[in-house]
Amino acid sequence: MSTGCIFCQIVQGKAPATIVYEDEYVIAFNDIHPKAPIHVLVVPRRHIPSLAHVTPDDEPLLGHMLYVAKRIAEEHGILERGFRTIINTGPEGGQEIYHLHLHVIGGWHR
Ligand code: 5GP
Ligand code: ZN
Repeated sequence: MSTGCIFCQIVQGKAPATIVYEDEYVIAFNDIHPKAPIHVLVVPRRHIPSLAHVTPDDEPLLGHMLYVAKRIAEEHGILERGFRTIINTGPEGGQEIYHLHLHVIGGWHR
């Protein structure tokens, strides 16, 4: 938990979000400003500021985040058509929220 971190607040249920998936390690919710018809963020429950801060201990978590992205794509019906998975890291990577998250984006052509 990081005080003042909006994603930690969502994880703790102290800020609202439309949660589409959750388990012991991650939660996933709709992006508040979607850049496509489907735009979900996969977020570890534990506060990790960015991909630049992960350690070898985080390798299973990172793999899990990608697997959850696949499940979300499947549940949204875009597994076959395809989708984007993006992690923005640091100032030049365009990161705005410093709590690690994986964007799952797609559903352009319905
Ligand atoms: P970043 O640039 O850090 O990879 O992306 C941060 C994303 O979080 C942006 O797409 C932004 O719209 C989204 N976001 C920022 N604040 C909130 C919030 O309070 N709730 C939700 N659901 N998404 C947020
Ligand atoms: Zn956080």
